[in-house]
Amino acid sequence: MKKVALDPRKCTACRTCELQCSIAHSLSGDIFSAIFESPPSLSRVKVSWTPGLNVPVRCVHCENAPCLLACPVGAVEEDAADGTVQVREEKCIGCFTCLLVCPYGAVRLSFDRKKAHKCDGCRDRLRDGLDPACVSGCPTKALSFADFDEIAAKKILDTAARETAALAQAAAAAARERSSLERILEMRKEMGNG
Ligand code: SF4
Ligand code: SF4
Repeated sequence: MKKVALDPRKCTACRTCELQCSIAHSLSGDIFSAIFESPPSLSRVKVSWTPGLNVPVRCVHCENAPCLLACPVGAVEEDAADGTVQVREEKCIGCFTCLLVCPYGAVRLSFDRKKAHKCDGCRDRLRDGLDPACVSGCPTKALSFADFDEIAAKKILDTAARETAALAQAAAAAARERSSLERILEMRKEMGNG
């Protein structure tokens, strides 16, 4: 099953993913018309940024989803075909129990609609052969859409590349230090001989 993966080192907190999500879920699907829609089209992803770490927070479509288990009216369902966790708006009573139990903070408040509001996995876009809107819109490629195995393999390769680069850097620094020391010793020897 494909999932959206994040590389937090690439996320600049530009919030383009939020914008693209809003547009993708607007009635018109067009940025200029979406601005004037009422109620406005809300993003289902929210970028959380701190000085050290930027994370676009969104639903990860958990197995045994706490929101699904906790919803008192059965308004949260798992799509048997693709495994995504979906809110059925027509059933939702706006109690926001799902918001309270979601461990990721992935359910957004939408008081004007009195409905739970969260990522639907961009199923319409996937049917058209597109990636989720947040992934397609990310200018730094901090978000990607891939199979679990692919994501795990890429993360392992990235870690190995980072650690190799760090080791090479440390080795180069040690070599520079050694050659400076050797130079100092040589100079001392020359001064002693002189
Ligand atoms: S809303 Fe939260 S608890 Fe529900 S599936 Fe998404 S991440 Fe899991
Ligand atoms: S807000 Fe809606 S989806 Fe969430 S727990 Fe309440 S009824 Fe269920």
